[in-house]
Amino acid sequence: MGRVLNFYAGPSELPLSALEEAKGELLDWQGTGMSVMEISHRSKEFEAVHNETIALLKKLFFIPDNYTVLLLQGGASLQFAMIPMNLLAAGNAASYVVTGRFSNNAYKTAKKVAEVHLAATTEEEGKYFRLPKQDEIDILGSSVYCHLTSNNTIFGTQWKSFPDAGGVPLVCDMSSDILSRKVDWSPFGLVYAGAQKNLGPAGVTVVVIRKDLVEKSRGDLPDILSYKVMADKNSLYNTPGCFSIYMMHKVLKWVEGIGGLDAVEKRNERKAALLYDVIDETPTFFLSRVEKESRSSMNVTFNLTTEELEAKFVSDAKAEGIIGIKGHRSVGGIRVSIYNSHDEKDTETVASFMKRFIETNG
Ligand code: PMP
Repeated sequence: MGRVLNFYAGPSELPLSALEEAKGELLDWQGTGMSVMEISHRSKEFEAVHNETIALLKKLFFIPDNYTVLLLQGGASLQFAMIPMNLLAAGNAASYVVTGRFSNNAYKTAKKVAEVHLAATTEEEGKYFRLPKQDEIDILGSSVYCHLTSNNTIFGTQWKSFPDAGGVPLVCDMSSDILSRKVDWSPFGLVYAGAQKNLGPAGVTVVVIRKDLVEKSRGDLPDILSYKVMADKNSLYNTPGCFSIYMMHKVLKWVEGIGGLDAVEKRNERKAALLYDVIDETPTFFLSRVEKESRSSMNVTFNLTTEELEAKFVSDAKAEGIIGIKGHRSVGGIRVSIYNSHDEKDTETVASFMKRFIETNG
C-alpha cells in the first residue's frame, strides 16, 4: 500500500523527506553503527543534533536573542501546569482567555495551582466557534501573564492578530500553528507547543521563554518542573526524547529547504483558500460554523446537512485515499487539518473531492 493523503489533526503527516532520511539512517546513523535511539544523549553526535535543532528553530522562527528555547517532554498539557507553577508566586495572579477545549484545560489546570482570572470565554453550550473581540477581554492589570491559545485545533479558529494585553506579557499555546506564519515576538513572554503537528512527532515540547522570566521563575520547584533548571542544563537535565528531537531537526531542515517561514506562510494561506473557497461557494451544502474572520488556516472545520451525509463524505473520501478528516468527537462534522507539511497538490485533491461530492449528493 502506498502513502495515504493524511489529514489527521495530530499527530499528523510528516514531510516525506524527513521520513525517508530517518528510514535510511535507522541502522547506521552518521557512521556510528547504530540509530539515534540507541546512542547516549551525552554523545557528541546527539548533542550536535540537539543544539542544531534549537539553533534552527531560532533562525527559522526569528526568535529574538532575549528568549531561550527549551525542548521538554510531557506535551503541551504539562505546560498547562508548569507555566503557573513557575511564573506565579503566592499572591500573584494571571489572566486566561478561553477559546476552546485546550485553553479551557490550561485555565482549569492553572486554577488548581494558583489564583487565575477568567479574562474572557467564548463558550456557548460547550462549543467555541468564535474568538472574543478586544472589548470582551478583561485582563487584570496586575496579571503576571495573560494566557491564550493561538489556534483552536478542535473548533478551527485562529487569532489573526493577538489582543492588546496592556503590557501584560502574553503566554501562548501555539501547539497547532507554531512556525506556520510570522510572529511579532514583542508581546510574548512565553510560547509553547507540542511538536506533533508542525514540528515533528509527539514526544518533544517546545517552550520559548523570555530570559527575564526564566530568571524570575520560582526556585522552590522539583528540578524536573523548573524552567530555570532546564534552561541552565540546556534541556539536558535528564534523558530527552532523542528520536523526536532528531525528527524535529529533519522537519526544520525541510522547512529551510522549501524557503523558510515566508514560503511556508504563503503556502499555508493558499492551501486554506482552496478549501474555504469551496465552502463559500456552496454555503448551504458545506456549513461553516466558524466566524469568517476567525477561520483557522490549519484546521478547516465544517458540517454537512445531516450526520448521514457526513459519514458518507468520510467514507467516500477514504475510498479515494483521503483519511483523518472526521471532526473531533466532541463537535462532529468534518475537520481537514492542513499543517505545514501538507502540500498544495493534496489539498487540491480534497477541494476537488468536495466539489465532486456536491455533484453527486447535492
Ligand atoms: N493545545 C492544543 C492547541 C492542542 O491542539 C493540543 C493537542 N492536540 C494540546 C494543547 C494538548 O497537547 P498534548 O497532547 O501535547 O499535551
